Amino acid sequence: MLKRDEIVEILAKHGIRANENRIKILEHIFFNECTTSAIELIEILSNERGTDKATIYRNLDLFESKKLIMKEIDQHGISRYCASKSNKTHLHFFCSVCNQTICKEVDNIPSFGLEGYKIEEVEIKITGVCRDCNYEG
Ligand SMILES: [Zn+2]
Ligand SMILES: [Zn+2]
Repeated sequence: MLKRDEIVEILAKHGIRANENRIKILEHIFFNECTTSAIELIEILSNERGTDKATIYRNLDLFESKKLIMKEIDQHGISRYCASKSNKTHLHFFCSVCNQTICKEVDNIPSFGLEGYKIEEVEIKITGVCRDCNYEG
């Protein structure tokens, strides 16, 4: 689990000045196994700290442009964010029961039969029923 100091370090590495809002947003995104929407962040941070919406959207755009986080659009057309690590295959599992998007990272990148191609980033989307919902049913 990433500590506060590590988040400050990651921000510095990407040329972003650390402040309390930025740390809080990244803490939430990095510690979450599932993707987070801006609406969820607004709910949490405006209760906790009285942070305004515009600040949250602006920081999400900034983090995305610096590739600290990645954005994906879920099956309902809502933008969701999660931690982005290069050199890994990022897998998204959409659960059709609880509507969560679960993130998994796989160390090696499969070639997909693309011999001669240089793959830089892979994002895989899988739809189905997550483990929790599957056992409940
Ligand atoms: Zn589920
Ligand atoms: Zn993800």
